This record gives sequence, structure tokens and C-alpha cells, in this order.
Amino acid sequence: MKHIKPSPCPNCGVALDGATAVDEDGIDYAAKPQPGNPTVCILCNHISVWDKQLRLRNPTPAEMREISKNKVVRQVVAGVALVRAMRKAIN
Ligand SMILES: [Zn+2]
Repeated sequence: MKHIKPSPCPNCGVALDGATAVDEDGIDYAAKPQPGNPTVCILCNHISVWDKQLRLRNPTPAEMREISKNKVVRQVVAGVALVRAMRKAIN
């Protein structure tokens, strides 16, 4: 995970201070998010986009259409949903 300046999730408001880059080749723990990259909140599973100042914002409808085609993002969303379900079952 790459530590970043904390930015609130547009959905749940938690200050996210780290990001891990994932693509079809795997995970790059050292990569810093780039403006326009989609990201998934590890707490609420909301999909956001990094802006030019690396703060999180909601995707535009056009961005959301593109993100919805991204297989890696869909896999990350499924993974976060699984972790959330497991946490709920434990607590
Ligand atoms: Zn969130």
C-alpha cells in the first residue's frame, strides 16, 4: 500500500490515507495513484476517481460507464464485498 495524503471517501466520509494499485498484471504496492484512476473504498466499496490533487471525487456518468467495463475494478469490488461480509459474520 502506498501512503497518500488523507482524502475523504465521497460516500462514507472515512479519510482514506493509502492506496494499492491493481491491474491485470497484479498488484504494485509502490505505485502512487494517478489522476483519473478509479479506486474502491475498502470500507464501503464505493467507487471514486482521483482528481488532479489526488483527492477523491465521484466519477462522472461517462467515467462510470468506462469503469463498469473494467474487469479489475469489478474484481476488487467483489473482493471488498466478500471482506465486508466476512467482517459482518465475525462481529
Ligand atoms: Zn467509503
